[in-house]
Amino acid sequence: MMKLAVIAHDGKKAEMVSFLNKHHDIFRSVNISIIATGTTGKHAQNAGLKVERVLSGPQGGDAQIASQVAEGQIQGVFFFRDPLDKHPHEPDINMLMRICDVHNVPLATNPATAELVLMGLAKKSE
Ligand code: PGA
Repeated sequence: MMKLAVIAHDGKKAEMVSFLNKHHDIFRSVNISIIATGTTGKHAQNAGLKVERVLSGPQGGDAQIASQVAEGQIQGVFFFRDPLDKHPHEPDINMLMRICDVHNVPLATNPATAELVLMGLAKKSE
């Protein structure tokens, strides 16, 4: 069982939902469980996916996900950041990305990369 974290800033939530919908079959067939920050998770649930939710990003959700990455519980992070907006929790965002790099965990910050990572994870689990 693989665990993937999904996080999307407000300007990118629609893209995340459409990404998750597009790849719904892979998530089902490859036995990937999904953990998400609060609001992103709600959107994913509305798209019909089974998702575990932590706190909303600005409330510490990114930090909660980073802690699981550090503990080796998460095998990939899809973090669709909005580069055109400011975020009060910028330190947490940077911390999550740093922790992914520290632990060599795949981190995709846009749908094009996420698609390639997802294909790779699916292949790895074969
Ligand atoms: P959210 O958090 O899914 O609760 O909106 C995402 C973020 O801004 O980090």
